[in-house]
Amino acid sequence: MKDKIKIIKGDITKRDTDAIVNAANRTLLGGGGVDGAIHRAAGKELLLECRTLNGCETGSAKITKGYNLKAKYVIHTVGPVWSGGGRGEEKFLTSCYANSLTLAAENGLKSISFPAISTGVYGYPPEKAVKTAVAAVLSFLKTDSVIHTVEFVCFDDQTYSLYENELARS
Ligand code: ADP
Repeated sequence: MKDKIKIIKGDITKRDTDAIVNAANRTLLGGGGVDGAIHRAAGKELLLECRTLNGCETGSAKITKGYNLKAKYVIHTVGPVWSGGGRGEEKFLTSCYANSLTLAAENGLKSISFPAISTGVYGYPPEKAVKTAVAAVLSFLKTDSVIHTVEFVCFDDQTYSLYENELARS
């Protein structure tokens, strides 16, 4: 399963996987960080489609087209805001990965790129988030036969090495 996982340093809006995942907020109407970058790169039509979706719960995922992106689809998921770890944050973050992968497989998508969900403005400690991300993806790949590539796209070197270490350990 590990051979299906790639760690990439760079900008997720440039990836040419079938889908890229957006770390969105519950309104799905755009925001800062990776969300803002994806909306800018995809173009205004993405926001128009997002307006028809009536938002998204924390831990859930919704799919739209990718418009001007290389990726054909965007899967929008809402990560938990970190508030100390006692509010189900780990469960919600696991759901983000599991639900995004399920949605991709249901749509016949073979490759998908994830940002480090919740580790920016939402304040999730990166070491913990990376552990949960890797565990959730490996657990999904154990039983799935649709998806052949899962990318973890890292914006900074620290996140990149966290993924490298975690994957080596798993
Ligand atoms: P959240 O609100 O879920 O914390 P953020 O967008 O603030 O989302 O940050 C999530 C992660 O995405 C952070 O690690 C941030 O460095 C990273 N990030 C921001 N822009 C990009 C981008 N263009 N490509 C990949 N990762 C990005």
